[in-house]
Amino acid sequence: MPRRASQMLRFIVVGGSIAGVACAYALQQAGHQVLVVEQGDGSHGGIRSPPNMTRLLNHWGLGPAIARVSIKADRFTFMDGKSGEELGFLVLHEKLMKALAADFLYMQHGALHAMFVEYAKSAGVQFRYNTEVVSVDPWKGMVITRKGARLSADVIIGADGYRSVVRPVVVGPEGMKGVLDKRVSVNITVPTDLMRQHKDLVKLTVSPEWSLWLGDDCAMHGLLTVQYAVVMHVPTDGKPAQNSWDRSQPLDEKFLKLDRFEPRTQKLVKLAQTMTPTSHTIYEPFDNWVHESGKVVLVGEAAHPLMPNGSHNAAMSIEDAMTLSTLFSLPAAKSHTSILLSAYEELRQPRCAATQASELRKRDFVCLPFGPGQQARDDGLRDARARALLDWDEAEEEFLRDTWEEYIDLFAFDAREAVEDWWTKWGPAISRPRMPDSRIESAARKFESSRLEAGGF
Ligand SMILES: Cc1cc2nc3c(=O)[nH]c(=O)nc-3n(C[C@H](O)[C@H](O)[C@H](O)COP(=O)(O)OP(=O)(O)OC[C@H]3O[C@@H](n4cnc5c(N)ncnc54)[C@H](O)[C@@H]3O)c2cc1C
Repeated sequence: MPRRASQMLRFIVVGGSIAGVACAYALQQAGHQVLVVEQGDGSHGGIRSPPNMTRLLNHWGLGPAIARVSIKADRFTFMDGKSGEELGFLVLHEKLMKALAADFLYMQHGALHAMFVEYAKSAGVQFRYNTEVVSVDPWKGMVITRKGARLSADVIIGADGYRSVVRPVVVGPEGMKGVLDKRVSVNITVPTDLMRQHKDLVKLTVSPEWSLWLGDDCAMHGLLTVQYAVVMHVPTDGKPAQNSWDRSQPLDEKFLKLDRFEPRTQKLVKLAQTMTPTSHTIYEPFDNWVHESGKVVLVGEAAHPLMPNGSHNAAMSIEDAMTLSTLFSLPAAKSHTSILLSAYEELRQPRCAATQASELRKRDFVCLPFGPGQQARDDGLRDARARALLDWDEAEEEFLRDTWEEYIDLFAFDAREAVEDWWTKWGPAISRPRMPDSRIESAARKFESSRLEAGGF
């Protein structure tokens, strides 16, 4: 049972996708009153729930419902895109997953989203659909909609994604200067009933493995949800693609560089009629996620626009929601809102920046252009093949460390524990009963200066 806040706050969440609805649900559960304002509706494709995300979903009690709509991954298989040769594996050993106490799952974006909406509604969250926010007054804690409605709250949460309208209010113009990513990622959903009509594709409709085909300067990966969810990473050739999850377009083989892949994967992709490309702008991590008024905060892609279709987009949003809701369930007063928002920023920024860097590194690793670098990568994967298939206990320690260190850092992180640790350090000073205002101020100042010394922002 989640802890309940001692004082109820009113939150408006701008954007009702995964980050927004997860925040809304968790904050409402923590005893606050939440309104979600969403401009549209709709959903697409597959997402991954790594253990660091699954653990939080389980904590919220969503585990049994998630189990009904997800598939548990057992390994990642790397293949040569051109020949289909299996180059190597990353096996999710049972012993490791047990230690992480949560699974690596695949599911449809829409299934997770629908589940959160249902849970949020039954927890009492209010929703306003077809309501586009056009501006935010951070000092008044107010959002203004296209139809002219003015809605105010104690805290506005900007969960409005990649092209957030709330972000510039918090980050300022400096934070808007990104560079176009050299690759675009494309979502393609292939109906499994069509795949079953092809002998060489049937295996993919039952396998819990995540298959990655490494092509020349591009890559493709696929996993089973209800349908088969394919993502392709292809060079942009300098042209930005659309950036909307809602608009699919006819499949374009040339755009997808399909000729760089083996016939079986070409056939797989061609079974889909449409594709949804999402281009991506890479930003330096933003310095501020909280407006100086202490009334506006960013979460999800609005705060940390990660490469679309990575393994951790939804996970970082869920971690944001857990961090924010755990902070706002602490026995703190309304006057501590700014401190709690600063703590959220401090806890989330380094984690999200490291995850973004790791995601881009991994994407570039699977997309190496053919040449010496790619050959060295493939030789390394071939070399490690036999060791990767060994049982966890039989594998060499050095191999396990080299292979797993970065993943374990990502997977073992517990956003709830991070807040508990923060509270153990700062809670006694902040929550002391009848603490005079001057002492609250002094605890807050101490916390702020410790962040500055640590180079937080
Ligand atoms: C419809 C949809 C489908 C997606 N499908 C996939 C998928 O298949 N695979 C995948 O890996 N990722 C998908 N994503 C992205 C994924 O949701 C994010 O990467 C991440 O998991 C959560 O990000 P977010 O909630 O911060 O932002 P987003 O998911 O980008 O959501 C932002 C939300 O804010 C709303 N919004 C934006 N501006 C305004 C405004 N001015 N006023 C009101 N509302 C506003 C948008 O309509 C949207 O619902 C999808 C996103 C959307 C919106």
